Amino acid sequence: MIILKNISKFYNNNGNINSAINKINLELNLNEFVVITGESGSGKSTLLNIISCLDNYDEGEMYIFDEDISNYSKTDLEKYRKKYISNIFQNFNLINSYTVYENIELVYLLNGCKKNKIKDKVNNILNKINLMDYKNTKVSKLSGGQKQKVAIGRALAKETPIIVADEPTGNLDSKSGNEILQILHDISANKLVIVVTHNYDQIEKYATRKIKMSDGKIVENYYINSKNYSTVDVKKNTSNIKLFEKFLLAKKNAFNIFSKFILLFLIYLFLSVSVLSLYLSFIKKDNSVNTNGFNQFFQDYTGKRIVVNKKNNGKISEVDLNKLLDLDNIDYIIKEDLLLDKEYLLESSDYNLFFNALNIDTLKKVDIGTLPKQNNEIVIEVFKDNYYTSNYKEIFNKQYVIKNEENIIESNIKIVGIKFKENYDNYAKVYLNKEILDKLNMNIYSEFSNTKIKIGNNIIDSENENIKIVPLNSLNKGEVVITDNYSYMCNNYNCKDEKLSLDIMNKYFNSSTNLIIKNIITERNYKEILNLENYSLNNFYISMDDYIELYNKGNYQNSIFINNEKKVDETISKLNSLGYNTLYIKDTIVDFDQIFRNILNIFILIGIIIVLTGLFFISYFIIKLILKARNKYFTIIRILGASYKDVISLLFLELNLILSISFLFVIFIIELIKNKVLTLDYLNNLIVYLNISDFVILYIVLLLINILITIRFTKNIFTKSIIESYNEEV
Ligand code: ADP
Ligand code: MG
Repeated sequence: MIILKNISKFYNNNGNINSAINKINLELNLNEFVVITGESGSGKSTLLNIISCLDNYDEGEMYIFDEDISNYSKTDLEKYRKKYISNIFQNFNLINSYTVYENIELVYLLNGCKKNKIKDKVNNILNKINLMDYKNTKVSKLSGGQKQKVAIGRALAKETPIIVADEPTGNLDSKSGNEILQILHDISANKLVIVVTHNYDQIEKYATRKIKMSDGKIVENYYINSKNYSTVDVKKNTSNIKLFEKFLLAKKNAFNIFSKFILLFLIYLFLSVSVLSLYLSFIKKDNSVNTNGFNQFFQDYTGKRIVVNKKNNGKISEVDLNKLLDLDNIDYIIKEDLLLDKEYLLESSDYNLFFNALNIDTLKKVDIGTLPKQNNEIVIEVFKDNYYTSNYKEIFNKQYVIKNEENIIESNIKIVGIKFKENYDNYAKVYLNKEILDKLNMNIYSEFSNTKIKIGNNIIDSENENIKIVPLNSLNKGEVVITDNYSYMCNNYNCKDEKLSLDIMNKYFNSSTNLIIKNIITERNYKEILNLENYSLNNFYISMDDYIELYNKGNYQNSIFINNEKKVDETISKLNSLGYNTLYIKDTIVDFDQIFRNILNIFILIGIIIVLTGLFFISYFIIKLILKARNKYFTIIRILGASYKDVISLLFLELNLILSISFLFVIFIIELIKNKVLTLDYLNNLIVYLNISDFVILYIVLLLINILITIRFTKNIFTKSIIESYNEEV
């Protein structure tokens, strides 16, 4: 069944080529109990290792069950081993951190048995080797004899026709030795058992053949009892460990040596945190860039603002607004969008404050003072350590007016509350009620509109002339007051009671009205007639009612503020598909440093790749050191029939389980910080940039690192023959 023809193996000892075995010819068959003896160094182990395909040979041919295995590849040889051969060693080679049961179960798992079908088989074997009482004992706690029994149990579990034992009693006292040999004999029916021993007398009674070796050659080879050789076909099909069983085994391996688990856990923690910090530093930098640009039209240009209007320039109704608010990624909407980019002046006899106007409804609380109760009361938003905050009592006592460049828009204003700014931006903010806000809005529309004024046959156009339409409460509907600057438009320079028509045109609407000129003011009489503070040549004064009719035509343009800048493209395309034009303010930023920053980004990216590579090698070497202690484990499962792929997947699953636990731990801590259970402000500011997709990317990066580590480690084991990696161990 096994035939060796002229098999030799050589070793190179300091330049001298010595043969460990030399031109061995041998035939072994089933039902034999072969005993090999000989002095130390005579080549017994070498022969045994070659027979059991643990080692390769340099010359000759070898047949197992009539198949010539001389030209087989390593993987083919491993398949052969798995199918035909079990090994028993002098020093047992058990998995010390497993129980007796688990050691034997492992063989079944590696040979493709389902976990739930193994139990009876293992118990059956435990009975045969008399270790039922020690079923759940860790093998490290057993005596030598008991350990060797487990090793025999394992060989039985492998169900191979050939059992090879290299000095199985070498480390045992004679009593246990006898017991072991007895068991070996008991199980030898229909098998080929080959035993190497120093102590031939102890085994003589079981032997069917004796082989003696000397100096790499067979010097005696004779049968002790004649045997009928079985011709039973004992070949069985081999199968590999199943997926679910892989998970079970990987889980067991991840946790069964606690110190190893903790060490790996800490390394993966270190790795996760490092990769995370690298990633954060990269996106943080990316975000801090935003404020470096500037824009001459929009004062508010954070990356969260999208300006929208309807593609048909129609009104945006409350229903529309509610629909928009229901969309993903929408934080809030500012209706008085134009005001975000317009500065007004809050003025008293002593103080001036330039501000952007916001709706008081958006404000829930103030830091000093109260929320407004009257229409003329306002709240200002300024920095915490500010002149206004330290002198708030004085400030609350003053009367203010709100002005644009030239004209008072609202007077009798009182400050009743102060809110502290949270973000850095240039302008103070003032929270106003809807009525004043509308006035400011109309003011902007009147600035942005094209205005045509017609008196008689004369027309003036704001395209060529500087015209301002200003509302005055003291005028009645239908009345207009002009300056004598425009008297030339009337017959005989007499404009009083003449008709004047006003036409307004802007992007969103047209409107017009017909008025009667009530008065003409001059530099001398403007104070008495209209009670104005200053005289301005280009103003046309109309009643508030007319002003509202002309300019308060509804809501056409709003600013949407989003939650997540990274999803802006999605949000914009959604808005477009709903019939809105969009202007993403960040895109309008004029950024002269962009090219420089792009170059800088490339360098930073290279830096990150270098650091990542460094991290990979650091973790690889530490993990390799930890795994080094597990070389023995992997060599043993290889001996028991685990293939290269099996070892890769087992190791990967094990490492990955620990990695996942570390990673989940990191996420858990991050969530604690995010939810302010842990207060680490600096970290919190960074962490807000992270979302689920980032975690997925990070996890994949760590997974890749793990795959590389696993492959490198496994390759290292498998480039050697089993006996080479085994010898490294012992
Ligand atoms: P035995 O098992 O009979 O004691 P071995 O088969 O272990 O003998 O060794 C046979 C010969 O091969 C010895 O001379 C030994 O020195 C040599 N040998 C065995 N393994 C190696 C090795 N890995 N490197 C060099 N020489 C070796
Ligand atoms: Mg030996």
